[in-house]
Amino acid sequence: MFAWYLTGEWTHRLIALQLNEMTVTLEDGSQIPVRQKGLIGRSVAGPFTRDMIRDMLNRLAYTGKTPYYGTSENARYRHRKEPIEICEGLHQPIITPETFYRAREICLLKTHVPYNSQSPIHLFPLTGILYCAQCGSHMRGASKGQDKLRYYMDASQVDCTCQCPQKLVRAELIEEQILTWIKQVLAAANNSELSQIYANQAIYENRFHRAQELYLAGEISREIYDKEKNAGQISLNSCRIRILILK
Ligand SMILES: [Zn+2]
Repeated sequence: MFAWYLTGEWTHRLIALQLNEMTVTLEDGSQIPVRQKGLIGRSVAGPFTRDMIRDMLNRLAYTGKTPYYGTSENARYRHRKEPIEICEGLHQPIITPETFYRAREICLLKTHVPYNSQSPIHLFPLTGILYCAQCGSHMRGASKGQDKLRYYMDASQVDCTCQCPQKLVRAELIEEQILTWIKQVLAAANNSELSQIYANQAIYENRFHRAQELYLAGEISREIYDKEKNAGQISLNSCRIRILILK
């Protein structure tokens, strides 16, 4: 695969098609097509796709090394960044570092698109988030027509990996729908938080009234009553502030 790519004549898509055409012969003589086994949480097993080939060409691990990416300030993995450190792995290399870096160089040269005010760069915020409901493939951003309208299209159709009937989806429409949905989820979360705060407020008020009754009946000391009163006031104030923020 790297050898094909290094010729500069193979695209990610052609490599995927070629790999999907290949077969392996089992001991009993039967032949099965070459397939990828998928990545937990990222992709399902099946034919190779263009995205997968791009990903594989970027895997330093094939050179026998192990990249360490570390975590960002908010403790998340630093995806798509340069590794902080490269360590010797314990596994067998399958390509040389020269091959790897040469492939990356070709990839960078091919993907470099100079900025042009006549055709501004389109952003597709749902790439990597949106999946086709029919076949489970990624929905990928694409600009079409003279007006360069933004669409999301089924990646399986682009890669010709299945005959999915999924149509093009206008980007503005689906992005608006997802935004509305996110707003609804956030509003619902706010509502359930609000009702929890109201419930707490009622508990604190009851507790304060109960302390008042006990104090008036002479069953608790002034000191205990004051403590309850102060603690109750602090809790009620914090409830009021949170209600003001959420409303
Ligand atoms: Zn599909």
